[in-house]
Amino acid sequence: MMAQYLALKESVPDCLLFYRMGDFFELFFEDAKAAAATLDIALTARGEHDGEPIPMCGVPAHSHEAYLARLIKAGHRVAIADQTETPEQAKKRAGSKALVGRAIIRVVTAGTLTEETLLDAKSENWLVAVAETVGKLGIAAADISTGRFTLATAEPDMLDAELARLSAAELIVPEGFANVPEHAQICPKTDFGSIGAEKRLKALFGVATLDGFGDFDRAELAAAGGLLAYLETAGQGDLPFLQPPRRHRTGDHMLIDAATRESLELTQAVGGGRSGSLLGCIDQSVTGAGARLLAADISAPLTSVAAIEARLDLVRLLEADAGRRESLRAALKALPDIGRALGRLVAARGTPRDLGLLRDGLGAARELHMDLSQIEEPPKLLAELLPALTGHGALTDHLSRALVPSPPIDIAKGGYIAEGYDAALDDLRETAGAGRKAIAGLEARYRETTGIASLKVKHNNVLGYHIEVPSRHADALMGEESGFTHRQTLAGVVRFNAPDLHEEAQRVMQAGAHALAAEAAHLEELIATTLADKDRIAATADALARLDVAAALAEQAALCGWTRPRLAGHPCFQVEGGRHPVVERAVEQQGERFVANDCRLSPDERLWLVTGPNMGGKSTFLRQNALIAVLAQAGSYVPAASAELGIVDKLFSRVGASDNLARGRSTFMVEMVETAAILAQATENSLVILDEVGRGTSTYDGLAIAWAVVEAVHDVNRCRCLFATHYHELTRLAERLDALSLHHVRAREWKGDLVLLHELADGPADRSYGLAVAKLAGLPKDTVARAKSVLAKLEAGRASTGGLAAGLDDLPLFSADVAQEENRADPLRETLEAVHADDLSPREALDFVYRLKRLADEGDDA
Ligand code: ATP
Repeated sequence: MMAQYLALKESVPDCLLFYRMGDFFELFFEDAKAAAATLDIALTARGEHDGEPIPMCGVPAHSHEAYLARLIKAGHRVAIADQTETPEQAKKRAGSKALVGRAIIRVVTAGTLTEETLLDAKSENWLVAVAETVGKLGIAAADISTGRFTLATAEPDMLDAELARLSAAELIVPEGFANVPEHAQICPKTDFGSIGAEKRLKALFGVATLDGFGDFDRAELAAAGGLLAYLETAGQGDLPFLQPPRRHRTGDHMLIDAATRESLELTQAVGGGRSGSLLGCIDQSVTGAGARLLAADISAPLTSVAAIEARLDLVRLLEADAGRRESLRAALKALPDIGRALGRLVAARGTPRDLGLLRDGLGAARELHMDLSQIEEPPKLLAELLPALTGHGALTDHLSRALVPSPPIDIAKGGYIAEGYDAALDDLRETAGAGRKAIAGLEARYRETTGIASLKVKHNNVLGYHIEVPSRHADALMGEESGFTHRQTLAGVVRFNAPDLHEEAQRVMQAGAHALAAEAAHLEELIATTLADKDRIAATADALARLDVAAALAEQAALCGWTRPRLAGHPCFQVEGGRHPVVERAVEQQGERFVANDCRLSPDERLWLVTGPNMGGKSTFLRQNALIAVLAQAGSYVPAASAELGIVDKLFSRVGASDNLARGRSTFMVEMVETAAILAQATENSLVILDEVGRGTSTYDGLAIAWAVVEAVHDVNRCRCLFATHYHELTRLAERLDALSLHHVRAREWKGDLVLLHELADGPADRSYGLAVAKLAGLPKDTVARAKSVLAKLEAGRASTGGLAAGLDDLPLFSADVAQEENRADPLRETLEAVHADDLSPREALDFVYRLKRLADEGDDA
């Protein structure tokens, strides 16, 4: 057995080998150690190899998927070696000591999963292959759980952005690839030949030329070759379901690199996971496929005005008609995930249940079609989707006749083919049923003839049908003349057989076995019939997902009062009353109101420099505008009172180093590398958000860099840009740069306390309020007072010739400052205490007081 194990292991050296032994998958040697550690299961030992005990651990075969999932998540690859024959077959083949034959049936990796239990219903699962030809990259991506297959080319410096868009579960590159991305697997170079790949693709899709799918580049074909070869190895020669490849043209989508995605938290929040991300906040989809498509849309906003308008038209239809939206969403919600059911069937891991899911899903799609066809003058996108929803009548009728209402996953017990589908099968079932009835009748007769009321006819896997009586009645049945044959004596009962029982039992068993075989044959044929239609079923699944996304966006727009963006052909960005959907929700949960803000960028005023206190809402303002661009181009309504946007070709968002430090990865160096990328790539049509760039270094260096970056963005890139900064000195740039304008988030300080209004106003902030925020944050009073003294000296030093810190030399001692602060009266606190007695929250009280104060400032006597 060890020899067999080692031979199998040798063929998959980079995988953990699951070796089937009876009811378990066992792992040995280093595999066992690694798996035991990851799964936290017992590591044991068995036998000896080279004089050493063999480490071993195992997982039950019936529940192995859960363990598999954890190993894959932890970054392992797993090969599954199963038994290819039963022990009986092995004995017949090679005698009583024969070893059961085993073979690797599958290699499971993160990018090649199809199991429902191992996949996240709401995420796509991309396997990505990258190949290189002169100066160009080809990117092939497949989600084999649904068969989606795309090819794209990219410039080498765009690879990062493309990989970030796909968020690959697994990435492969050929040997010798320059700059291998993190976590990539290196595969044989020969797999990535473009000529061989073209042949393979033609054969796979049964076409003489690939022209019908697109005019593919050599780099794309090479990548496709690597991908197919990898899938073939994983499936041990079998390829999973792939739809014909679609061309993904990078220019068709807003380019968003990895750092920008991370900083905007488009589909994943900083801490990981969907919740807290834009997607998590706005996802109203009701199907797994819809959730996956919405994530893909948000990850790759469009750049074609016509394509975006087509999506928006459908959203508008559903936004305006709440009744239709509701009924559509209810119908979609009841839909099974037909894309993934189909994927399992193609991967030969389908079950009767999957056929049932397709029957129900395709049937429901037909009903949706009838309903949606009533719409007069349907928007273009709907008109395109409608035909895909129907045309499966013959298949669903067939499946409806053939299958029981809810077919099981497990085929071992049969019972999934419906009555009336096959007369011969019905006969067999009737025979078996009649036999079981007869057996029940026998029980009554035996009780009568023997006079033993507690006699029972039972069934188990060892004896089959048998008669059981309590031990104290056994003697009466022991003799031959009784007509019973003794089979087994247990502690309290004795078991017998009888000729007529045996006969009926044979009848039941034979008919049962034949019925099972007949069902299995039907299953095979039904799967083949279904798969003949697989491309059209996949198209139906796609159309349903698109409808779900449109309905979800319409629901979100209706719930949160979003508006339809207007798309312009020139680089403007006019947002009135814009909001940040994620921050808005968080603020509202705390019982406060989000303050909406305008943003007006145009060719004449394309760079906004935003100053204001910490916590004032600068970052929120910057990001909300980037998110509005992403949502609009993904075909969604936007959180604003109105929005007119010129198409954004590339979106960049950078956060100064120290904001990022908490994530444990960013340093000033990274900040500069990322800023360099923006200056190199941003065009007049790009939107750039720079949040406190230059902050991660010393004050003067940082200011100097920020100054130079603003100038470059303004003069060279000429992109639309929002730049938030604490460097007040930058506001002087307004005098030199025509298209730069100054804005600030408003705050009020009154008797030493600070109120943040989160409201954007024109002009620079009057000062930086850093100390006031520190006080608000609960920095000890003494420390705040001390900082005030230091600041006063610094400001004096700046004016003198001695340098910034010159004044610090004659700063009084710390304790003197503190005494002075303590003696200061605090009239505000007294007012507050009075208001507080009326049970207002301190925050409400503060707002109230300052609102009065503001009115007074503005000379309003009311
Ligand atoms: P820092 O300079 O310290 O980075 P900031 O000016 O960038 O601060 P944000 O991080 O944008 O400030 O906002 C701080 C907090 O203020 C948010 O978490 C939110 O609770 C609140 N806030 C921001 N904008 C608004 C708004 N428009 N309406 C209501 N509350 C807001």
